[in-house]
Amino acid sequence: MSSFSLEGKIALITGASYGIGMAIAKGMAAAGATIVFNDIKQELVDKGLAAYEEAGIKAHGYVCDVTNEDAVNELVAKIEAEVGVIDILVNNAGIIKRIPMCEMTAAQFRQVIDVDLNAPFIVAKAVIPSMIKKGHGKIINICSMMSELGRETVSAYAAAKGGLKMLTRNICSEYGEYNIQCNGIGPGYIATPQTAPLREIQPDGSRHPFDQFIIAKTPAARWGEAEDLAGPAVFLASDASNFVNGHVLYVDGGILAYI
Ligand code: NDP
Repeated sequence: MSSFSLEGKIALITGASYGIGMAIAKGMAAAGATIVFNDIKQELVDKGLAAYEEAGIKAHGYVCDVTNEDAVNELVAKIEAEVGVIDILVNNAGIIKRIPMCEMTAAQFRQVIDVDLNAPFIVAKAVIPSMIKKGHGKIINICSMMSELGRETVSAYAAAKGGLKMLTRNICSEYGEYNIQCNGIGPGYIATPQTAPLREIQPDGSRHPFDQFIIAKTPAARWGEAEDLAGPAVFLASDASNFVNGHVLYVDGGILAYI
């Protein structure tokens, strides 16, 4: 069996009803993993289940708000009872609020930190004890270029994703001895609903200034596609990466090297 195979592995990908999470889940399913995902609303889970079925994947979908610790603990217990012990966790669920810092309320700031930083802590904490018992585990935190950079209007997101990079390193340091590898993936600018406002055609028919900026500054000269994240995620979930721990792999078409 190839060391990239995920045959026999159970992967939980949070917030994977569409977008990056779904593309990662499809890549992992193609490598042999059993796919489990959650989302915050039943309608999203139903939509996700239909899309997986259409792709020939038998996924297990659950409703769960990843910021709610009791709900996450219940979810993990349910998955262990109904599907099995989780081998791979992808902390993908996330939100962004594009608001200039001085116009942002503390409640809005906290909400972003809650979903993008506190929730990965809550979900990782819920799965690690069973991973220790099983003797192995892979945790992949979906970080961002904003784990490294600051930009106008994304103060909370950058704070959360920067924190997530350090949580990744800490999980590696604390649980590496139990054969648990925790790494991050830092997507560059990916064409998903989250970034759709940045690609809107302007009233005069021109491209959005940010869209023009991305094309000019990305050596690959394009936005990323959600599918660009699948291969790196399969690598970090597989035995091929067993000595890779505590890193963030930036999947950004080269933009971080250039700007
Ligand atoms: P989204 O961030 O829009 O999708 C993530 C999913 O998580 C959505 O279905 C969302 O539901 C769900 N979600 C939000 N809050 C919760 C919650 N509390 N509990 C459970 N599920 C929740 O899509 P993307 O695919 O764009 O992003 C995936 C990840 O990649 C995120 O962590 C994001 O920050 C990161 N990323 C994305 C980039 C991009 O360019 N798109 C760039 C860098 C990083 P709902 O639709 O209801 O909000």
